[in-house]
Amino acid sequence: MSQWSIEDAEELYGVKRWGAGYFSIGDHGNIQISPNHRKPEVSIDMQEVLDEMKAEGIEFPAVIRFHDILRSQVEIINETFRETITSAEYEGHYVGVYPIKVNQMREVVEEILDAGEPYNYGLEAGSKPELMAVMAYNDNPEALTILNGYKDEDYLTLALLGRHLGRRMIVVVEKFSELEMLVRLAKKFKIDPLIGLRSKMMVRSTGKWSSSSGDRAKFGLSIAEIVNAIEYLKENEMLHCAKLLHFHIGSQISDIRKVKEAVTEGARLYAKLVQMGVPLEYLDIGGGLGIDYDGSSTTTDSSRNYSTEEYVADVVYGVKQICDLEKVAHPNLVSESGRAITAHHSLVVTNVVGEVNPSSTDFDVEPEKGEHVLVSNMRELIGANDLHPQERFNDAAAYKQSAYEAFKLGILTIREMAKIDTMYWMTLKDIHQSLDEETSHIQELGELEDTLASQYLANMSIFQSAADTWAIGQLLPIVPLTRLNEKPSVRVSIADITCDSDGKIGKYIESNHISDNIPMHKLNKGESYPIGMFLTGAYQDVMGDMHNLFGRLAEVHIFSHDDEPGAFYIEEIVPGHSAEKVLETMQYNTDYMAKMVKKSVDKQIRKGNLAPREGVRWTDFYERCLAGTTYLRHEK
Ligand SMILES: *Cc1c(COP(=O)(O)O)cnc(C)c1O
Repeated sequence: MSQWSIEDAEELYGVKRWGAGYFSIGDHGNIQISPNHRKPEVSIDMQEVLDEMKAEGIEFPAVIRFHDILRSQVEIINETFRETITSAEYEGHYVGVYPIKVNQMREVVEEILDAGEPYNYGLEAGSKPELMAVMAYNDNPEALTILNGYKDEDYLTLALLGRHLGRRMIVVVEKFSELEMLVRLAKKFKIDPLIGLRSKMMVRSTGKWSSSSGDRAKFGLSIAEIVNAIEYLKENEMLHCAKLLHFHIGSQISDIRKVKEAVTEGARLYAKLVQMGVPLEYLDIGGGLGIDYDGSSTTTDSSRNYSTEEYVADVVYGVKQICDLEKVAHPNLVSESGRAITAHHSLVVTNVVGEVNPSSTDFDVEPEKGEHVLVSNMRELIGANDLHPQERFNDAAAYKQSAYEAFKLGILTIREMAKIDTMYWMTLKDIHQSLDEETSHIQELGELEDTLASQYLANMSIFQSAADTWAIGQLLPIVPLTRLNEKPSVRVSIADITCDSDGKIGKYIESNHISDNIPMHKLNKGESYPIGMFLTGAYQDVMGDMHNLFGRLAEVHIFSHDDEPGAFYIEEIVPGHSAEKVLETMQYNTDYMAKMVKKSVDKQIRKGNLAPREGVRWTDFYERCLAGTTYLRHEK
């Protein structure tokens, strides 16, 4: 057996490259989590987490949230801004907000607010229901509440209520008509709003969200509209309410040069407005701080070519330079990073429940008397290593095609067809193994690796748990959680259990490139093979849909604690959606459904087709399934 080390596993799956210091591979071949950036010595073994989940009766798939990671990320962004502001002798403060659309889970929002309290870290809302949530939860009078998104009267009135409650709620005007509505309502309720103006930026970001800026952007005011807004506020004697200039050029900015450009444009606009007499105090640079999902540190869509320190330095020094040149006081800096705060803290764990591989069927192919010549032809290709692989491949493909035609005409028996099929795959495996440096570059032969790759069926729904991998080709790291000290010997792709052929992961992070499939371990009979899909904390956690009615996953919330065995404890378990629950969201009345099934069972009892006791058992079973999980249940 060839040598295999933890370093090899690390190289293959790149855990440290995308793990941001939180994830690594331990000596026993299990994923390790160091969730607290201030205590890198605290290390949690994934196997122990899985054991404890099992002991608590939590089945796969489940979401694991590491609350310490959330806290760490909040601390890191705030500390980095503070340190940079000090060393740059920047005169404003940093007052960040967390945009809850990235993950609205109450526990996530509460944890972020709690960790952010020493920094007066606030919240951002982009819709009415989000505003209602942040209004209830962000009661720190020093922290900002930034209100983005399109607004109606109710939205704006709620914002004014926030002012009555003494909150620093800033209404960011996305389009001119919102300003007119806001001025009217402010007069009606006799309270001054805090107003932000969102600028439609000229700089275009790169990547998936590049349309968030530029002339055709959906949100924001053009320069002409901003000037008109200033005039309008002056006419209504409300210019003193204009406090903030906002921009957001898109999420997951992969290239630091775009950040620099946006900061230059935004700071210049800020300075010019202040020079016009607008009493601005805050410059809000939006979100966009990226995550290195694939660990490549490049400008590809799923990566970023900069560190958080570099991002913060570019913002702080960039704004300072322009304000100094323009002789304008340094603004307080606001950022709305969501992805960067939440992406690392959660992962989906599940197990592989099966394997689909046309080449792995066992079938007796021993020669039989009088078998068709196509069968013996195909048999001759097995082990025919003297043939050139291309020729062997061509022959195998031709025999298979002929066999198929012959079967359709009734010339081959079903057993003969089964043999040919089995031997075809045996030949392909043989050819694949015989390839060398030169022959593996022949296209058809090079593709054999993919043709022969198994599909591992993961007990999950991509649409529920990783919507962006399907919708926009987002890359998420997928790694076996254990056995990483063993050499992975099969190439596989991961498919989910939805009946949708799109329900699979198409791209994998392998060493330093992107592959169509990935090495994993052979499944051991009777042994669970747990895998993790990482970095799902931003957007994926909350964007899932109801495709195939799988619904929400069970969750465990984990805190680290030095005094606990394994250095962690499960603080909370949130059960996943039952079949009943998801059916009800689609307007089904599950009581009625149970009654209808019972009625049919009763009918069979009356007819004497079912014993009464047996009938009751079936009815009970149906009701138990309604209350049970939507995902595949493990055999006990
Ligand atoms: C979505 C959004 C954010 C969050 O962006 P991230 O890239 O996740 O940090 C911030 N601000 C606004 C206005 C947004 O729409």
